Amino acid sequence: KAKQQGRNTLQIFTQDINQKLTQRVTLRNDLPEAILNEQFELHYQPLLTRAGNIHGFEALLRWNHPEKGLIPPDLFIPIAEETGQIIALGQWVIERAARDFLTLEPQLPPHCRMAVNLSPVQFHRPSFFNTLSNTLAATGLSASSLELELTEGILMNDTDAAIASLHGLRALGVSIAIDDFGTGFSSLSYLRHLPIDKIKIDRSFINSIASNSKDAAVVQGIVALAHHLELVVVAEGVETPQQQQQLAALNCDVFQGYLFARPMPFAALQTWLELHRQHSDDVRL
Ligand code: C2E
Ligand code: MG
Ligand code: MG
Ligand code: MG
Repeated sequence: KAKQQGRNTLQIFTQDINQKLTQRVTLRNDLPEAILNEQFELHYQPLLTRAGNIHGFEALLRWNHPEKGLIPPDLFIPIAEETGQIIALGQWVIERAARDFLTLEPQLPPHCRMAVNLSPVQFHRPSFFNTLSNTLAATGLSASSLELELTEGILMNDTDAAIASLHGLRALGVSIAIDDFGTGFSSLSYLRHLPIDKIKIDRSFINSIASNSKDAAVVQGIVALAHHLELVVVAEGVETPQQQQQLAALNCDVFQGYLFARPMPFAALQTWLELHRQHSDDVRL
């Protein structure tokens, strides 16, 4: 019986792999057309300060596939990176996010920012800096309204070159956040060499913070170190009031997660902003 069960498991396993491969091939074939036919859309997730004010938004890419529906980025970004299409796609993301932010800006409190995720492939292109500054000029978005989210992976090969690029981007006026912080291979000591503004503690730590005292200790250590280096600390993936309370007690500066708002299409974000403002007014009264 055990043998039979083992074989079934293996069968399911290979079926699963086959499905994934087929899906990957399909997506890879459909991707060039998707860019031409504008099948992509951005959803936006608000980030809130500890006091509950709007800190900014993160733009998150979705592929609205004509047959498969909304496809999450983890499924197609790796493919777009392999094929080089991430360059065109990433450029589209920055332009779309810039224009949407400018539409919202009159309603926003000062110092709000639009955060955009940057692929290492984009970041490492020698032309990235010029392309970005041209995009800022063309859209009219002020550099100080833009934040680039990068992962520690960009430091892996030529760390010095990556740091030089970061210096250039900050000189332009954009801010830099390290995304998924804590999941990379780097040691903590590299942080003090980095010209960055913010770290976003990975969801995996936030997830278990209320149940696992070791993860809570890790978060506490990260926050203390980051504040010592004058970095803003964001907790991503906050889902429960317990997590929020604990993160607030640990002095986390900014919160992002389903507890507050899910990523949503632009129209829904406009409605959300209106409700949030009414609620803030009510609280003040
Ligand atoms: P990320 O930058 O770390 O984005 C946060 C992810 O966590 C998003 O997943 C978001 O929907 C999800 N999330 C937010 N709050 C919660 C929560 O409370 N609970 C849970 N379980 N999840 C939460 P999403 O949108 O599927 O994006 C996945 C990843 O894809 C992003 O991770 C980012 O690395 C990448 N990505 C998204 N958009 C872009 C893009 O325009 N360009 C590039 N290069 N990468 C992108
Ligand atoms: Mg991100
Ligand atoms: Mg993240
Ligand atoms: Mg991530």
